[in-house]
Amino acid sequence: MADQNSQSADSLWRSTAKPLKDFAALSVDVETDLLIVGAGYTGLSTALHAVDAIKDIVVVDQAQPGWGCSGRNGGQVHPQWKSDLAILETLYPGKQFKIFIETLGASVQLVFDLIEKYQIQCHALRNGSIIAGKGKRAIRYLTEWSQFWTDTGENIRLLDKKVTSKLIGTSHYDLSMCDQRGGSLQPLSYSRGLARACKEQGITIFGNTRACKISRSEGGWKVSTPGGSIRCKRLVLATNGYTDDLWPGLSRTIIPVASMLTATCSLPEDLAGALLPQRQPVAEYARVPAYYRIDESNRLVFGWRGTLSGGIGSLDTTHLRSKAVGLFPQISSTDWEFDWAGYVGITPDQRPMLLKLSDHAYAGLGYNGRGVPMATMMGQQLALALTDQSTAIPIGPLRSIPLHSFYPVGVSTRIISGHLHDFFDSRYEKN
Ligand SMILES: Cc1cc2nc3c(=O)[nH]c(=O)nc-3n(C[C@H](O)[C@H](O)[C@H](O)COP(=O)(O)OP(=O)(O)OC[C@H]3O[C@@H](n4cnc5c(N)ncnc54)[C@H](O)[C@@H]3O)c2cc1C
Repeated sequence: MADQNSQSADSLWRSTAKPLKDFAALSVDVETDLLIVGAGYTGLSTALHAVDAIKDIVVVDQAQPGWGCSGRNGGQVHPQWKSDLAILETLYPGKQFKIFIETLGASVQLVFDLIEKYQIQCHALRNGSIIAGKGKRAIRYLTEWSQFWTDTGENIRLLDKKVTSKLIGTSHYDLSMCDQRGGSLQPLSYSRGLARACKEQGITIFGNTRACKISRSEGGWKVSTPGGSIRCKRLVLATNGYTDDLWPGLSRTIIPVASMLTATCSLPEDLAGALLPQRQPVAEYARVPAYYRIDESNRLVFGWRGTLSGGIGSLDTTHLRSKAVGLFPQISSTDWEFDWAGYVGITPDQRPMLLKLSDHAYAGLGYNGRGVPMATMMGQQLALALTDQSTAIPIGPLRSIPLHSFYPVGVSTRIISGHLHDFFDSRYEKN
């Protein structure tokens, strides 16, 4: 289980998001039609999408909305999934592939639609998103996907080394792909905006309310918390990378992998413009990919893996900063102001999971670092599942990952071997 308390660092997003009054903790016993555990994008989006069909909805979070990944992420909104095209076609055979591809585009659209619908102030910018890569493997990935998207009629540009270095102020990458559907936002402001919208829609949120135990109760479920219990007809677990032992086996369906972020002080306009002149968010295609962007106050926000052991450690982001300076020597004397981290929910085959846990009990999790759009979409899908409608994301049973307790060793091995592969991939091209 991910350590719940060690990473509530003072992030850039916490210091710049519009404040939202804390939601009070539950202190009595209540009954509701639908209880959602977890107030990140998955939980809040589920509530907002279910509110027309389900009268009485309660959301609980052990902290406050956006405390988990939804308030810590890089704020990058990519329509591009991380898997190779051929692998994705195998994972989603036949018609399912087309549905998943449409879901990717729809999930990004949904984010910007919700922002518009609920007038969420979160510095949303829809100016395209970039995937950039170096070496033979990345070239193949980018070429295949850009051809695929072009064939499906999307506005995607495959950019050679020269054009890439104009869009990203470094000559590091061989190739990149710019997708006009993508963009960026302030992730905690987006979370808080969704929470505010829930409140306006009559949805009840309890903060600082940890769901400790779930048991069967007449006509549904009883969820115990330190201050009171909640009886509900329907239940959704939206706890993703922070999933604990609340539902037997759920924490063994995903691997919580640490990702860290660091941010510079505000850069002078000409320096920010030299790094990312058009301000698109960039994610690398690599085995251990970095991701970065310039925020609205001209800070470089740079994300990469956690420690080599796969954890967060003492939030030492030296390795992120050296990687950032390696890409952009222009910022070598710039001050860094913020460090923070969180746990990304990774699934072994990189598919997001909509799980039917039992009668009228579901979970949505495992967005593999693409949860800004995909968790938002999962909320819509969970609302459909709760009201017995068909879903674009297939509903599956809970399946534990074999040998799950060894995941820390697996994560460390993947990081180290990933670094080696990335190194040799890039050298291959040079020679
Ligand atoms: C450092 C980092 C960078 C990332 N960058 C990006 C990015 O740039 N773009 C992108 O698309 N995705 C990114 N992601 C992934 C994305 O943030 C997540 O996929 C998404 O936020 C998941 O939302 P969620 O609502 O499912 O989970 P979360 O936001 O993690 O919410 C889960 C909530 O459940 C609560 N909870 C857990 N257990 C209990 C319990 N027993 N009782 C009550 N509450 C409980 C937690 O307090 C938490 O608030 C990043 C993730 C990290 C960590």
